[in-house]
Amino acid sequence: MKTDTTPKLIYKRDIFGIILVLFVVTICMLIRMIPADTSGKKFAEISVDGNVAIRMEINDETERSEIPIDNGYDTVVVYENGEIGIQSCKCKEQICVHMGRISNVGTSIVCLPARTVISIVNEDSSNTASTDAVTY
Ligand SMILES: [Zn+2]
Repeated sequence: MKTDTTPKLIYKRDIFGIILVLFVVTICMLIRMIPADTSGKKFAEISVDGNVAIRMEINDETERSEIPIDNGYDTVVVYENGEIGIQSCKCKEQICVHMGRISNVGTSIVCLPARTVISIVNEDSSNTASTDAVTY
């Protein structure tokens, strides 16, 4: 009995191992896609339909502002205390509103129904990984 079951167990464990390795590799690739550099100037890019509609520098001194987005969903982007987020949006799911505020380079908020993306980018790294990653 033991000689029957042992090879099966190893086989199962091997598959699990392969899946685990693939999983770890994928995570590593995702981490590498996120720029770790948080120094220098930061910009918030608000894109509608894949085109950058608004690009604003954000830093701790930038005053609170509300930015209405012309995307057919009455989306209002709010910038406050170094963080940017969607304050209100007429999309059904309200996922974008619940995504909260972001401030780190490489992070983004997406509203699929309104085809609107807010991403935080470095001074030189506009239209790189962040736009490639958001394809839908
Ligand atoms: Zn929305």
